[in-house]
Amino acid sequence: MTYRGRFAPSPTGPLHAGSLVSALASLLDARAHRGSWIVRIEDVDAPRTVAGAADEILATLAHFGMHSDEPPVWQSQRDAAYQDAFERLLAAGFVYPCGCTRREIADSLVHAHARHATLAYPGTCRSGLHGRPARAWRLRVPDGDAARVGFVDRWQGIQTQDLAAEVGDFALKRADGLWAYQLAVVVDDASAGITHVVRGADLLDSTARQIYLQRCLDVPTPSYLHVSVVSNDAGEKLSKQTGAAPLGRDAPLDALVQAARHLSIEVAAAGSLESFYADATAQWARRFGII
Ligand code: GLU
Repeated sequence: MTYRGRFAPSPTGPLHAGSLVSALASLLDARAHRGSWIVRIEDVDAPRTVAGAADEILATLAHFGMHSDEPPVWQSQRDAAYQDAFERLLAAGFVYPCGCTRREIADSLVHAHARHATLAYPGTCRSGLHGRPARAWRLRVPDGDAARVGFVDRWQGIQTQDLAAEVGDFALKRADGLWAYQLAVVVDDASAGITHVVRGADLLDSTARQIYLQRCLDVPTPSYLHVSVVSNDAGEKLSKQTGAAPLGRDAPLDALVQAARHLSIEVAAAGSLESFYADATAQWARRFGII
């Protein structure tokens, strides 16, 4: 197996201490496996993309000694690949148009008193649009036992999700015409030949959807490792929304030592980026039994 890993930031703002942890974990895993590490700019969600943020992220990564082994992939340039996958799913009968507004979905959930009322799409348009225009396009998830998707996460252990009860048929093409993250990420991981996904645990909940989509598209499922997310003093996940400070460029080594500590890796006396990465990679390899 040729290890291929990736770091996939969304250019919605500058990197912060939380995104550095994901970047570092994915890089250490790739280096420990003597594999490739590829950066992918996840700018599929154009309205959330901030001009200049992607270049700033790439420059910050470089400053921290993190260089993509291949030219970064930009989701905004991959429309044809998403369209192609979508058409294959459509031809195979996996997707259907949905005319529901957010409001209608919320209302029908309240009426149904569903247990997972806040999450699962109730399947209103499975049987047709009922004369309404198509807004989004959804992937039909299976019913019954087939809806349970399980995987072993290398950090978090055994995971299962009942797609029908907890998620419902999910959007691949959004009402605003944009490709949904779930479709883009599965198509991109597959076409880049990604064998190992290492990312923040905020995406743990998306993994079953992605594995199911991989099965529909008949592409391999990578191995997954989700690192715990970094929280602020109020216990909220660090993000732009919770006011995370952008990573400064003054003391990259200090920030890296801090990020490593979050991964339970103590790098005591790194005098340079090079010695930091050598020590941290060796510790990561020991922890995960990578020879
Ligand atoms: N772009 C996503 C984020 O920044 C990461 C997606 C992924 O790693 O699968 O949260």
